[in-house]
Amino acid sequence: PMASSEMEAAISATPSDSPTIFDKIINKEIPSNVVYEDDKVLAFRDIAPQAPVHIVLIPKVKDGLTGLSKAEERHCEILGYLLYTAKIVAKQEGLEDGFRIVINDGPNGCQSVYHLHIHILGGRQMNWPPG
Ligand code: C5P
Repeated sequence: PMASSEMEAAISATPSDSPTIFDKIINKEIPSNVVYEDDKVLAFRDIAPQAPVHIVLIPKVKDGLTGLSKAEERHCEILGYLLYTAKIVAKQEGLEDGFRIVINDGPNGCQSVYHLHIHILGGRQMNWPPG
């Protein structure tokens, strides 16, 4: 199948530690549909949902964590907290029949925003293998 425009954007995205659109979302400079927020993380509905429920969950402080491949030992606490929060959000969204979490990393992983984020997808039967 033809590459989607999101895939093309991801493939042409340049990995960098510069501020991303997610900083603007965290700072409420651009609107987003927030579903969960605390002092450490923010979860909002993806603007291009790939499932009936599609949420992006991010750490509020990037601390060099542009992607999972850049994780250092100091990030272990926030990484664990993000996974735990993914479960809280999935429950809040009523995904008791199951859900999927995805972390895209780098060009081959179709990462388009270089601020680590977890996709929470659900509300339909997910497929395997993924595309
Ligand atoms: O894994 P990837 O880097 O491709 O994920 C970024 C996600 O952020 C995309 O699913 C995109 O739709 C979403 N996004 C968003 N709001 C923005 C910019 C991107 O929900 N303003």
